[in-house]
Order: sequence, then C-alpha cells, then structure tokens
Amino acid sequence: MNIQDTKISLGRMYYPVRALGPGSRVGIWMNGCNRACTGCISPELQLYDRSKEVTVNDIMLMIQQIKAPIDGFTISGGEPFLKPKALNALVQSLVSICDDILIFTGYKIEELREQKDESINSILSTCAVLIDGPYLKDLNDGKGLRGSSNQRCLIFKHHEKYVGIETIDRTLQYIVYGNKVLTIGIPQGEKYL
Ligand code: SF4
Repeated sequence: MNIQDTKISLGRMYYPVRALGPGSRVGIWMNGCNRACTGCISPELQLYDRSKEVTVNDIMLMIQQIKAPIDGFTISGGEPFLKPKALNALVQSLVSICDDILIFTGYKIEELREQKDESINSILSTCAVLIDGPYLKDLNDGKGLRGSSNQRCLIFKHHEKYVGIETIDRTLQYIVYGNKVLTIGIPQGEKYL
C-alpha cells in the first residue's frame, strides 16, 4: 500500500499554531490513546474514532492549501505512537515539506526504542524534537513546552530554534474551531492558575 493511503484518525488540524513550537506551525492532533494520565489534557482525543479517519494524502492536500510559510509541524494527540505505522507514514510525508517536526508522546524514548519497531525507529530518526514521557499533573511547573517536569525535550535537529525549550514562558492560543472555542498550548496546571 502507498503510504499516502494510510489512514489516520484525525482529531483536529490547525494553522498557524504558535504556542507549540517555534514559528507558525501546522498542528496535527491524532485521535487514540490507551494511556490514562491523571489530569489528561486532551481527554476528548483518547478514543480512536474510525469515523474521523482520513488518509495521509487527505492531510497533505489540506496542507497544500496553506498559502503562507510553514515553519514546522507539531504532532500531538491522543497518543501519536499508538499506531506507529500510521504516524511514520505521516512523518515521512510531512518531511518533504519541512523537516522541523515536533512530536509529543506519553512514552519515554527508551520505551519506544525497546519495541524495536521499524516504523518507530524511522520516526525517531526523522523528527526534529520529541517531548517524551507521561504527563503528571502534580509536576506541571508552568514552564517550557513540556507539560510536566518529568518530561524531556529531546532535540535531534534545529537546535538553534529550540534554545530554552524547557524553560520558555508558555503561551496559549484561543481559536474558534467548528462551534467551539479551543485552547492551544500547554496549560499552566491547577496550582499555578
Ligand atoms: S498521553 Fe496525552 S492523551 Fe493520552 S492520557 Fe496522557 S495526556 Fe491524555
């Protein structure tokens, strides 16, 4: 099967995302997560919803309609590594447009590497940044692009763009999406509100 035909349950997609990485980025949120982080920041994306499936080609066609500079991609969820083949198909397509691809995952990179999965290895050698580890609400220190201080910002490419990623002030974006107002960005955590 052509990788462009690979199906992904798309939670949402938005441009420009400016609160989840440097510049004006395309944010792609994938449905589906079998983790159960206490205080999950995206509970509405935990279900893998087949009715929301689109192909990688559909996503690429949508991106082609963006007539403004794309500084990078941020992939989140849900848990993007729930379906590694699908994530790899997406990543290998996106990299043809821009190789600044930042991925949030609830897995530690060691857990991903232990799986010795071809797709996972391919993703890890292609993406620019991986923010790894489970989100722990009590360790949300209000700083940086990681949700809690146990998470790591692992930078593989574009180091100059990501200086201070673990300590930068967070910003939030409020967008109208469908008939809802959504918040994009890392929440401050209850004890910091
Ligand atoms: S990995 Fe993300 S979507 Fe899944 S339970 Fe944790 S915070 Fe929620």
